[in-house]
Amino acid sequence: MCVQSESNAEIRRKRRMKRKRRKKIIKILLLLFLIILAIIFGFVLFLKKGEHKPYTIGLDAGHGGEDVGAIGYIEEVELTEKTVDFLQELLEKDGRFKIVRSRKNGEDIGITKRKEILLKQKPDLILSIHGNSDPTGTARGFECYPSPPGRYNHEISYYFAVCIAESMAEVGNHLRGENGVRYAYYVTDQNGNTQKAIKEISDTMVYAQQSFGMVENLKCPSVLVEQCFVTNQQDVEQFGSETGCKLAASAYYKAICKYLGIKEISSNI
Ligand SMILES: [Zn+2]
Repeated sequence: MCVQSESNAEIRRKRRMKRKRRKKIIKILLLLFLIILAIIFGFVLFLKKGEHKPYTIGLDAGHGGEDVGAIGYIEEVELTEKTVDFLQELLEKDGRFKIVRSRKNGEDIGITKRKEILLKQKPDLILSIHGNSDPTGTARGFECYPSPPGRYNHEISYYFAVCIAESMAEVGNHLRGENGVRYAYYVTDQNGNTQKAIKEISDTMVYAQQSFGMVENLKCPSVLVEQCFVTNQQDVEQFGSETGCKLAASAYYKAICKYLGIKEISSNI
């Protein structure tokens, strides 16, 4: 009888031990599961933090095809296409941008269509590149034109223009006007001739006259730049030559990053 009860007690003890072991294993497994879950969660958060929808940048190389733009020491279109090529290269190297071009090099597409091509891609900003001209050959320097007062996105276009002008000054370009940022309007005189009227940035009056097509009432900030004068030899050497267009492209890249509040990644090309 006594042997029997000892054996029963032994069996109960063994069962208790088994239950304890099972509980311990379950606890360990649960702990492991929670640790794995935390690691997975942390990893997902890390990936989410690193990912960002690419910024869509609309690039417009002024003129094109038969329309070579102003003619001086170079044709304006040489400068616009070269600079857009270099800027696209820099932005693509950076990796955070999707580039939309209003036309391919050599193509002759009107301003309305070019604008349509860019807007279809819902860009975060538009940069239209041009070269200036002056019959005397003496005028030189940089100026840019944001969407003027009274238009959609005027304020942010102005901010983008200021970023560009500052960046241009840093690479040694001479800023024209008050600070390199101006407004342009097409004005028709008594004889029916349309002329470009330039206003300084301090003139914040809202004019009914149209500005450049690329900066008129867009659903994103837009700036048209006159990189340098194709009619001025010094200007062309500094900002219209191969190295000059590269330098200008690096200044635009820097300005785009500043405007978007992000750090530059790409080094110079
Ligand atoms: Zn032009």
